[in-house]
Amino acid sequence: MSVRCGIGYDLHRLAEGRKLIIGGMEVPFDKGPVGHSDGDVVAHAVVDALLGAAGLGDIGTHFPDTDPKWKGANSLIFLEHTRKLLEENKFLIEHIDAVVILEKPKLGPHFPKMREILAKALGVPSSKVHLKAKTNETVDAVGRGEAIAAHVVATVYTP
Ligand code: MG
Repeated sequence: MSVRCGIGYDLHRLAEGRKLIIGGMEVPFDKGPVGHSDGDVVAHAVVDALLGAAGLGDIGTHFPDTDPKWKGANSLIFLEHTRKLLEENKFLIEHIDAVVILEKPKLGPHFPKMREILAKALGVPSSKVHLKAKTNETVDAVGRGEAIAAHVVATVYTP
C-alpha cells in the first residue's frame, strides 16, 4: 500500500450580489466569491489537494477558466470529475482536511451539510471529510471581508 498527501489552496475576492457558495452549498450572506465558476474555494482547494496527492496536475489544467464550458459551473462537477480521475489511476481517498478562512458569516452550523455534500461528490463517507473555519483577525484582505480563502490537505492511497 502507498499513502500520499497533497495540498490545495484557493482564494476568491468577495463582491456584493454574488451567492456565497462554500463546500457545495449556498450560505446566506450579502456577498459572494467572484469567479469564472461558482467560486467555491473549498471545492477548488480539495480538487487541487487530490490532484496533487495523485500527481495528476492541478485544477487549471483540467478545468481552465478560459473554457466557456465552466462559466458559472457548480464546482461539485469538478469534484466528481477529480474522483473519476483518481479512480482511473487507482487512487482511493482516505481523508480530506480543510480550513476555510473568512471574516463573516459563521460557518460552523453549516459544516454537517457541507461535509455530506462534499463526501457524496467524492464517493466517501462524511467521516472522511473534515472542515474547520477561521477568521483572519481583521488583518489583510481576508480579514477586511474582501476575500475568502481555503487550505486543504488530502490523503490518498493505493491499495
Ligand atoms: Mg478558485
